[in-house]
Amino acid sequence: MKRQQIAAGNWKMNTTLKEGVRLASAVAKNTKTGNALVILGTPFTHLASVKQVIKSNKRVKLAAQNCYEKESGAFTGAISVDMIKSTGADYVILGHSERRAIFGETDKLIAHKIDLVLSRKMKPIFCCGEPLDVRKAKKHKTLVSQQVRKGLFHLSEADFKKVVIAYEPVWAIGTGVTASPEQAQEMHAHIRKIVAKKYGDKIANKVTILYGGSVKPANAKELFSQTDVDGGLVGGASLDAKGFGAIINSF
Ligand code: PEP
Repeated sequence: MKRQQIAAGNWKMNTTLKEGVRLASAVAKNTKTGNALVILGTPFTHLASVKQVIKSNKRVKLAAQNCYEKESGAFTGAISVDMIKSTGADYVILGHSERRAIFGETDKLIAHKIDLVLSRKMKPIFCCGEPLDVRKAKKHKTLVSQQVRKGLFHLSEADFKKVVIAYEPVWAIGTGVTASPEQAQEMHAHIRKIVAKKYGDKIANKVTILYGGSVKPANAKELFSQTDVDGGLVGGASLDAKGFGAIINSF
């Protein structure tokens, strides 16, 4: 079954506006051939400007890295889904382990934000993944199953089809330690299996599941060649246009 392949960059809290626009232009310029989509997860402040430099390239899409849980009102400093939508963003990254660990986001809150994003006709990139102690205790499949069920399984089939899942083991994010291709494949197959149980084989075989955690030009090809790995969510390595270009060309 053909699935949409994606190389998504998560810039996190990096780049000034000028640097971000320059990076996005370079990525868009170098993204020419192939079927994989490229998604740039920029800081909120960069969304509208980055949209301007990528909009002529149909393969390059724009993502926010989060949204606030309320729709509007007296929430100083918060960014709503309507604000994000108005910049031309196509995707919103939700449930990133940094949001869960540093900002205390719960499965319930993430599920609510998933609904908000879908209600504005944007697509969520839903992140899940276990910390090291959970993997050491061999409870990683249980935890990831729980995150996926609580975050997504309230969705209708039609809405679930719009979601991209990113499996990001916490111990591999920003650490330089990458899950082995076998470890990634094992968890991706597991996620697809629980999706199949809930939504059926057809939908499970169609959902894009990205791997995230120290993806680099040197390991992308092997990771992306695994049966159930449909691309990557890339942090650090997405900040370098040349390196990210190499990752984009790893499918
Ligand atoms: C991420 O932030 O989603 C991520 C995977 O980061 P890195 O590639 O730097 O490990």
